[in-house]
Amino acid sequence: MDPAETDNLTSKYSSDISEFVRMNLHNHSTFSDGSFTPEFIIKKAIEYRLNYIAITDHYLTSKTRSMSDEVLENYITQMEELKEKYRNRIRVLSGVEIDASRRTDFHRMRYDLLNSMDIVLFEYVNDDVWGGMHLWELFDVFDRIEVPIGLAHSDINVNFRDIDYNALLQVLEDHGIFVELCPSQRNSKFGRPFYRFAVDFFRILSDTDVMVSIGTDAHTRPEEIGDIQDAVQFVEEFDLWMNLISLKI
Ligand SMILES: [Zn+2]
Repeated sequence: MDPAETDNLTSKYSSDISEFVRMNLHNHSTFSDGSFTPEFIIKKAIEYRLNYIAITDHYLTSKTRSMSDEVLENYITQMEELKEKYRNRIRVLSGVEIDASRRTDFHRMRYDLLNSMDIVLFEYVNDDVWGGMHLWELFDVFDRIEVPIGLAHSDINVNFRDIDYNALLQVLEDHGIFVELCPSQRNSKFGRPFYRFAVDFFRILSDTDVMVSIGTDAHTRPEEIGDIQDAVQFVEEFDLWMNLISLKI
């Protein structure tokens, strides 16, 4: 982004930019392997003074409890009702999380339904440990998705270690892919979230138009829904304010 444009944006948002960082765009409900209903998650998010909350249940993977395409229709209807019900209190987004491995039945994927939601997360992209497909093997899938696509809890420093970060960021930008900051213990090593091992990547990212989200991958503990603090601090430390996906959705 050119510096003049950044200055404009900074002055436009400086008074209320902190509103935009208070998001959790990665939560699982009873529609897949989470313990809470979507409505419970939304109410908790309001208690935690979040401004954006997304429910992103698993879809079509054999790895865990996951939605079939029939259940997905039902889920979308319920999410639309909840968006409406809470519209004056919090921005509710609907999404799914797709396991980027052969455990997912890509042939059954209903792109019309995916495109009626707000975001689609992909986990395990380029992740050898979990048998994730390479980023470039997924281009055909990405091209059929018209809503923002996110890389969920990626251990970037490991998964993309052989790829030049400038080249990687260009690909992410071209495909409209954002990168999630996931501060949960589940997606940490040595007690630190994966993104803290990829500071070189995020330093370069802050000068690009690639967006970032915050998502905690909440499943079973209510506190996980509001536990965004380390990621908020990371946004501050690496000046990622203008990269926040909430500015665009
Ligand atoms: Zn997840």
